[in-house]
Amino acid sequence: MYFAGVGNPNYRGRNTDTDGYRIYVPGASGIDLGFRKSIKMHHAVAFIELGITSLPKATHVHHRDCDALNNDAENLALFTEWDHKWLHKQFGVAPLIAFMRGNVDLMTLSRWSDDPPRAEFLLKQNVVDQGRELREMGGYSESNLESVLMGYRWHDPFDNPMAQIIIRALNLSEFVK
Ligand SMILES: [Zn+2]
Repeated sequence: MYFAGVGNPNYRGRNTDTDGYRIYVPGASGIDLGFRKSIKMHHAVAFIELGITSLPKATHVHHRDCDALNNDAENLALFTEWDHKWLHKQFGVAPLIAFMRGNVDLMTLSRWSDDPPRAEFLLKQNVVDQGRELREMGGYSESNLESVLMGYRWHDPFDNPMAQIIIRALNLSEFVK
């Protein structure tokens, strides 16, 4: 999605709330995103990409480069609160900015975390890809969204069907969580 001029979600001079987020105000900015109430701009952009009209429970919209005013869809990702808190605990602002600027690569940054597959999955996410995945699954539903948000779990050997076969074959079931 591309917005020109005042229709751009990053257009300067728009209202911001006390948390520093830009606010979409219906009718006030010369753009119509289809929302009747005032809404955080990053939520509005994410909702349009994801095909939803409200924030799913226990989820947050994350600014990937930690700039609360950068509401480009590629800069936003929908996370569970759980993943969102974890990511910010793993990485301070500077590493996330460095990653988005291409100063550190995905594998290197992921390896600095205490769960590299989880970090690698989360760092790659953005609402454009997430929306595309949802559409490929037939659109938004709670279970489709759960698949999109929980994709990294397939990297967990305990959730991997082949690993399960090996665990059973070796009679290691006492080690299965
Ligand atoms: Zn965040």
